[in-house]
Amino acid sequence: MNDDCIFCQILNERAPCYAVHETRYTKTFLDIFPATPGHCLIVTKDHYQDIFEATPDAISMVGHVSTLIAHVVKEELQSEGVGIFQLNGAAAGQTVFHYHMHVIPRNTGEDLTIHNRMPGDPAELEALAARLSTRAYSMRVDD
Ligand SMILES: [Zn+2]
Repeated sequence: MNDDCIFCQILNERAPCYAVHETRYTKTFLDIFPATPGHCLIVTKDHYQDIFEATPDAISMVGHVSTLIAHVVKEELQSEGVGIFQLNGAAAGQTVFHYHMHVIPRNTGEDLTIHNRMPGDPAELEALAARLSTRAYSMRVDD
């Protein structure tokens, strides 16, 4: 764990998040600067800076959970598509240096951004997290 890392602070419950789903190895919560409503982040519970530090097992767990979360956002939010992004290094656009994967609901005509400068509305984020969490725990990965 890294005291200066916002994702470690969330994992240690020293910072709040809009939680969607949790496994032994991963935690999924809403990006508070959503590219689109329902933009989720899946993070490893251990602190790895990026793909070059993370273990293959940790990365595969995130990938496994991403299939569940992709179904969850597509079905709950009726998005036409789902973007899955994983960025490593500032040059690639990584902004939090703790391994994570973006799951972003997409619809035709939207800008294909990953990071938004505008924070989401707290009440909207809370309501979305509740909907997505209920859906996530009602589904199995292989549903
Ligand atoms: Zn961390």
